[in-house]
Order: sequence, then C-alpha cells, then structure tokens
Amino acid sequence: MSKTSSHARHLRLPAVLLAFVLLLGAATAAIVGVRGLERANRLLEHSYLVINLLVSSEAALHEAESKARGYRLTGRESFRPEYGDAVARAGQHSRRLIELTADNPSQQALARTFDADVQRHLSTMEILLDPVQMAALPEDERQRRISDNVRRAASMSVLRREMMDEETRLLGERQVTSQHRATLLVVFIVLAFVVALGLLVFMLWGLWRENRRSRRLELDARNALHDLHALSEQRHAQSKYAGMLQSCQTREEIVALTTRAVVELVPGASGRCYLARPSQNFLESAGTFGDHPISHDDTVTQDDCWALRRGQPHHLRGRSGGLRCAHIDGDAPLDGMSTLCIPLIAQGQSLGMLHVSAPSNTSVGDNDAAILASLSEQMAPALANLQLRETLRTQSLRDPLTSLFNRRYLEVSLARELQRCERRNLPLSVMMLDVDHFKRFNDTHGHAAGDAVLSQVGRLIQAGVRTEDIACRYGGEEFTVVTPELDADSARIRAEQIRKAIEISSVQHMGQTLGPVTLSIGIATFPANGTTPELLLQIADATLYRAKAEGRNRVLHASQTA
Ligand code: GH3
Ligand code: MG
Ligand code: MG
Repeated sequence: MSKTSSHARHLRLPAVLLAFVLLLGAATAAIVGVRGLERANRLLEHSYLVINLLVSSEAALHEAESKARGYRLTGRESFRPEYGDAVARAGQHSRRLIELTADNPSQQALARTFDADVQRHLSTMEILLDPVQMAALPEDERQRRISDNVRRAASMSVLRREMMDEETRLLGERQVTSQHRATLLVVFIVLAFVVALGLLVFMLWGLWRENRRSRRLELDARNALHDLHALSEQRHAQSKYAGMLQSCQTREEIVALTTRAVVELVPGASGRCYLARPSQNFLESAGTFGDHPISHDDTVTQDDCWALRRGQPHHLRGRSGGLRCAHIDGDAPLDGMSTLCIPLIAQGQSLGMLHVSAPSNTSVGDNDAAILASLSEQMAPALANLQLRETLRTQSLRDPLTSLFNRRYLEVSLARELQRCERRNLPLSVMMLDVDHFKRFNDTHGHAAGDAVLSQVGRLIQAGVRTEDIACRYGGEEFTVVTPELDADSARIRAEQIRKAIEISSVQHMGQTLGPVTLSIGIATFPANGTTPELLLQIADATLYRAKAEGRNRVLHASQTA
C-alpha cells in the first residue's frame, strides 16, 4: 500500500466530520440569516411607515387648512365635514407617530413636539373658523393668533423635515445593514458548500482509489490463484512422471514417458531424445515428439552439441545469434524460437541428451527450462538404474568367459521354447558340443591358453547360430545350442557348419598359434528323440559320447545308427 493512500485514508473521517459540521453551519447560518433579514425588513417597513405617516399628516394638515380656508371664504357648510375629517386624520397621524417612534427616544421627543404643535395648530384653526369667537377677539389679538398659526405651521414643517431626514437616514442605514448581512450570508453559505463539496469530492476520490486498488488486488489474487493452480498441476504431472518412471522396464518406456511428460508440461514443445549405448561414442535418436522437431540427425556426437560438450544445459532464447548446435536443422529459422539441449548425466556418466524447441511466445522460457531440467534430472538416474539392472541381469544369465548364456538360462529357455514348439507342432533340436582333447591344451600351453580357446570357440558358436537360437556354455569345455523349429536334418547341417568353422580356425595366444581345435557334436530332436528338456539333453549328451567314441571331430544325430 502506498504512503499517500494510507495518509488519505486517515484523513477521511476528519474530512467527513468537517463536511458535516460545515453543512450544519451553513444550514444554521441560513436559518439565522433569514431571521435577521426578516428583522431588518421589519425595521425597513417601520421606517417606511414613519415616513408615510409624516407625509400623510402633512397632507391632512394641508387639506384641513384648505377646507378651513374654503369655508371661511365661501361660508359653504359642505366644507365643514371635510375639514373635520382632515383634522381627525391629522390628529390620528401625529399620535400614531408617537407610538411608532417608541424604539427611538430622540425621534419620539420630536414626535411629541410635533403632536403638540399639531394639536395647538388645529385648535387655533378651529377658533379662526368660528366667526363668533373671532368677532369677540380684538383685532391685534386676532392678527397675533393668525401669525402664530403661520409660524407654527412653518415650525411643524421644520420638525417634519427633521423627522423625515432622521427616518430617511435610519432607512439608509438599515438598508445597508440588511444588504451587508445578506451578502455575508450568501458568501458564508457559498463558501461552506464549496468546502463541503470539496471534501465530498476528496472522499469520493479516496473511495474511487480504494475501489481501484481493491479491484487490482482482487485481480492479483485471481492471477496468483491461477498460477498456483497451474503450478499444482505441474507438480502433480511431475510427481506422476516420477512415480511412473520407477515402473519403467525398458529404455523405450522411459523415453516414451518422458516425451509425453514434456509435451504435457511445456505446451507447443517439439524435440528429440537421444540415448547412448555402451561402448558407443555417439548418441542415437530414441524418439521424437511434437509437431516440428528441428534436430534432424539420428545420431549426435559430443562435437555436435554444446550441451554435451560443456556437460550442462544449452539454452537459446528466441535469437538467431546464439551458439547453434550442429544437430539442429540448418534450414530451421531460430528467430522467435527457443531451443534447449539438456545432457542426461548420472553418476558422472553421459547417458543421452534431451532436445526441446518451441516458439518463444508460447514456451521454453526460464520456468519451462527449470521443469525440463527437473525431468532430465529424474530421467538420467532412471536410465542409469535400468542400465545397471540390465548389466546385472546379463551377468546373472551369461558366462563371463565366452559371453554365451549359462546353464541356468539354458534350463529356463529350453523348457519355454519346447513348450512353444509343442504348442505349434514344430520341431526343436538340441546340440551338445565338446572340445576334443581339451585337457591337452591346458597341459601343453597352460590354463590361460585353454581359456583363450574356450573364448574363441564360444565366439564361433555364437557366430554360427541364428538370433533365435540359444547358445550356452554348459560347463567346462562343453556347450549346448538349442535351435527352435529346426528339424534333425537342418540341425545337422547347422552343427556341421559350426564344426567346420572351428576346425579351420586358429587361436592366437601370447604371440603363438594354438591348435588345431576340433569339436564333437551330438544332436537330439523333439519330438522324435525326446519330449522333455531333460531327456533331450540326456539323449544329445549320449549321442555326443557316441561321436567321441567314433573318433571325435564329428557331428552325430541321435536318430543316426552306427
Ligand atoms: P575329450 O576329447 O574326451 O573330451 O577329452 P578332454 O580332455 O577334452 O576331456 P576331459 O574331460 O578329460 O578334460 C576336460 C578338461 O577341461 C578338464 C579341465 O581341467 C578342463 N577345464 C574345465 N573347465 C575349464 C576352464 O574353464 N578353463 C580351462 N582352461 N580348462 C577347463
Ligand atoms: Mg568334456
Ligand atoms: Mg572334451
């Protein structure tokens, strides 16, 4: 997690609280502000009312004077009630002014003076309007009252102007205050909303980032799970391979199992598996796999492969510029291909080489190379074990001096071949061969020379039989050859060939020629001379002794009479 996102997460709660407080403050300010505005409006209304009353009272006084003058000049009675109305309104207005200015003592003092002047003015006007009263007054008194009234009217006009000015001033002040408050309120509310909005945007941004991060984490987790699944499948395939490898009986089975595992674990892979044979200094192809194997040679020498030369895997990753092994097809373009040669080495012995190639975009990356190396590491010891088992088995079945099968193997295979020929109604012949006067070789040239003779005789017997025949050293200087499916005549011909081949051969030992070597051979054929292995061997042996008795260096069949 980044430091910034952790910091932003810590700020989220204070930001929410601050946004909440700001919104609450904006709402409270709106309520308080609206109340203040209402109050300011009421004061404005009040000022307008005072001004109105001053104007109305002036108008009522003017009207009263005008009606009074009309009445005085015309004497028409209809002016009287209109005059009375105007007087009443003027009086009402001046009294109402006193009530309305209760909140402003200086204005109220003026209103009281104004009201007193209005009352006096109206009562003087009443006297001036009554002809009886006027007639009772001396002339100078009448003139004084008239001029008093004119003066009072002027003073009332000054008072009204004063009050009007004061009220207009108050009105101006109240308007400014009201406007100021309204502006402040708007600014505060706008600011609070902007800041709260900013905080909300900040929170939303944080949540969006959080959401994106959790989606990325979820994707990472899903990918990791997929990789884990693929890895577990790989492990499963590898352990299955390792388990089955233990049960392989032949090199061919090991190669088939390995190439199948390679194709399964490295999709798109092609290649070839090469194996060494004892006493050969080159590797032979033991199997190909995939659709496009590019190693074309059926045999590979150490010089042909960098991996074999260096004794370690040789990996070319999708470039044509690397060191290309000579066993790779010269026409195969290596651009965009990965190739890997892995030597199969166990107990310091080079047993073969696994060559794998694939388009670079599909596989044989480093991970695949590791898998292939692991397969090879398991394959090589399995091949070595198998080779060891084969060597041990051969040793237990073969005679070390002549490399022919031993007597134990003869007994088992004779019984098996006899059963097979019996089932198929085929003949089977058994030859017993014995070196003539062998003791003399030992006596004349020594035991080692005798061994050389036996080794040479074994080689010639093996060379003179078919692959399906079983040539054995029966013991000492005696040999047995089982020839399945050969009748008496064919067996005799074959025995004669062997006898001749030995007769004309010469044995070289320690720089001297030993010889000549001859053989006597007795033959028995199934089913005419016997139907069991023991009987056939016994009859063949008896016939051999007959051949000896008849002069040695000859072939005799049990069915032949003397
Ligand atoms: P015959 O023509 O009657 O068969 O005479 P032979 O001398 O071949 O027969 P004999 O049975 O008298 O002698 C066999 C000799 O073979 C006796 C033994 O010392 C010798 N022998 C047996 N096994 C070996 C062996 O592994 N190496 C050597 N050098 N000699 C052996
Ligand atoms: Mg003998
Ligand atoms: Mg002998």
